[in-house]
Amino acid sequence: MSGKLKVVIDKAACCGYGVCAEICPDMYKLDGNGVVYVEQEFVPDGLEALAREGAEACPQSALSVVDA
Ligand code: SF4
Repeated sequence: MSGKLKVVIDKAACCGYGVCAEICPDMYKLDGNGVVYVEQEFVPDGLEALAREGAEACPQSALSVVDA
């Protein structure tokens, strides 16, 4: 069973390492200041595993993938 997932970002915690964007560039982007953002908070079908992997790899724990 798979429900919709969404990404919650703690921008204050993001240090711009870009690990999330390397792992899942379709989901996580870095803005001009090197802070992570997403173009849409809901994780598209098929990107669930990579979105989770990218969030879990964040050294700052700035990303959470949660049930929408
Ligand atoms: S891995 Fe974490 S600290 Fe690095 S850019 Fe992504 S959210 Fe920011």
